[in-house]
Amino acid sequence: MPKVIYLDNNATTQCAPAVVEAMLPYFTEQYGNASSMHTFGGQNRHAIDAARHQVAQFIGAEYDDEIIFTACATESDNTAISSAVRSFKNKKHIITSAVEHPAVLEPFKQLEAQGYRVDYIGVDEKGRFDLEQLKKVIDDQTALVSVMWANSETGTIFPIAQIAQIAHQYGALFHTDAVQAVGKIPVDVQAVGADMLSLSAHKFHGPKGVGALYVKRGTRFLPFMVGGHQEKHRRAGTENVPYIVGLGKAAELAAKRLADGTTARIANLRDTLEQGILNTISDVKVNGDPEHRVPNTTNISFGYIEGESILMYLNDFGICASSGSACTSGSLEPSHVLRAMKVPFEFAHGSIRFSLSDQTTKEDIEIVLRELPPIIKRLREISPFARFK
Ligand code: PLP
Repeated sequence: MPKVIYLDNNATTQCAPAVVEAMLPYFTEQYGNASSMHTFGGQNRHAIDAARHQVAQFIGAEYDDEIIFTACATESDNTAISSAVRSFKNKKHIITSAVEHPAVLEPFKQLEAQGYRVDYIGVDEKGRFDLEQLKKVIDDQTALVSVMWANSETGTIFPIAQIAQIAHQYGALFHTDAVQAVGKIPVDVQAVGADMLSLSAHKFHGPKGVGALYVKRGTRFLPFMVGGHQEKHRRAGTENVPYIVGLGKAAELAAKRLADGTTARIANLRDTLEQGILNTISDVKVNGDPEHRVPNTTNISFGYIEGESILMYLNDFGICASSGSACTSGSLEPSHVLRAMKVPFEFAHGSIRFSLSDQTTKEDIEIVLRELPPIIKRLREISPFARFK
């Protein structure tokens, strides 16, 4: 087995050793129920409060209790959407973008099937959000505008503050799925005017299976998970203390990385990879908005070949990347994101997402740049599409 070169950090990241260390005591020594009356369990409440503070600070929340812990960002997204539509009983219009993660698109489709009027805002060929379309379709019947902060596949960053402002002009709530932005770029809920925001620990070196939903104080909110009184009646279920502690620690570490130049180093490596590919391989195309993109992501289409075949060959060298998002790979359809961007068929099928992290090294990038050109050459020699060139 060759050394693993992990360039699939938008799918998930390694849980940082310091995060694991912070979590461990809560599995074994401090296993009490945080909602218990006794001191043994009750002291875990302090651990949860500390984590809530770390997350609140990290995303610029005004109050710690604006953070609700969840089991994942999928739950955060589902909760935000469900709460918004149930809070506005008389408003039956909701808006999202065509390039969201399924955690947002699927609840929207369900609501559409229930009779909600839904608008899916499109993007241009660089994956840029169509603000003009939003302005045209929004009205005072709109309950919710839910638009992701950064795209998981291309890394393109949306103009979230402008979108929030337009939503508020019409009295709609604004939710953002910030899963791919948090930890990669500064995220400040107050600066952008978000009413609700979803995040997930495993995308920034925290554990899988824990997330958070920010709900601005004063926002209409109805819980999704009902049962016990945990999280001030906003999310029932025994608090997952070790994972919540892990999320808090991951937030603290990510804040440091954003401040100490790590992000700039990652962007540098990403640019080296991208430029190296553009310089050595013909018929390639970068998907996304190079001017507004998270620093760790590049999505590159290799014309006339299948992304899946590229991934298989890369895998032989221990190189992990992704074609489309982790959820859509496995199907041979080009991803909904690339289709919304109208990437031509012969390019959309050969798209690979490389997503770096602070653990990526110069050597990793050199190995990819050494191994990739012969792989592409070989695949093009046997590709039935190459004759359409
Ligand atoms: N939203 C976006 C943009 C994502 O990229 C992901 C994960 O890939 C999710 C939501 C779902 O996150 P989780 O795995 O925590 O449910």
